[in-house]
Amino acid sequence: MTVHLVGAGPGDPELITVRGLELVRACDVLVADALVAQELVDEAPDDALVISRRGMTQEAVTRLLVAYGAAGLDVVRLKGGDPFVFGRGGEETLALAEAGIDFEVVPGVSSIAAVPASALIPVTHRGVSDRVTIASGHGADDGEPDYASLAAAGGTLVLFMGLERLDRLCAGLVRAGLPASTPAAVVSRGTLPDQESVSGCLDDLPDLAEGLASPALVVVGDVVAIGAQITSATANASPAAV
Ligand code: SAH
Repeated sequence: MTVHLVGAGPGDPELITVRGLELVRACDVLVADALVAQELVDEAPDDALVISRRGMTQEAVTRLLVAYGAAGLDVVRLKGGDPFVFGRGGEETLALAEAGIDFEVVPGVSSIAAVPASALIPVTHRGVSDRVTIASGHGADDGEPDYASLAAAGGTLVLFMGLERLDRLCAGLVRAGLPASTPAAVVSRGTLPDQESVSGCLDDLPDLAEGLASPALVVVGDVVAIGAQITSATANASPAAV
């Protein structure tokens, strides 16, 4: 009799946690995000009430969780990646806590590092990048991100929800002081069978990424060049001698 906020992982349905899957398989009500794999939604019991979050306002979702939680049902709120990374999990948890409803947060594999990794880009690399800044590609209230602080952050930048405004993002970072030659990549639909990625630099990334599908993550920094190195070493490797 709890509302479980469960991270579904970055896309590939096999990347949910064991605990997350157990909860999905035992729930009374499943409220699933649009980004969540259908295979995971299909894991809910046949008699569970399955609700898609698509088209619902955040307020309506929160009200629903509080109402089903108060009714004593086992509710799974299944979210893409990790519930507490750009997932509004904090808001939902706060509402549940304030309403006195029992809840649990089950972390998920966030796209933060998993999606770059799916394109062989390590977000940190010894001697190259010792920090990662994650940010939304659009700032508060759909405004521009704080380019000056992003450009000054050093290390790797991982930008969420940035594909639609990639032109402005790259130009903003260059205006704020990052060299136009800074390595940068877009990974589209990471960990899914139709994953695609492109890498270049801030200057040419918008052209290279033309036509890529959502969801997509933007990675900026020298680790992108390490990713390219791993990819070409893999392609050129001769089979290991046994
Ligand atoms: N809670 C999620 C993030 C939700 S915000 C997490 O922890 O991963 C949605 C954004 O996440 C998308 O716009 C995109 O930038 C990124 N994203 C999520 N899944 C992705 C995937 N499979 N491939 C590329 N980007 C992804």
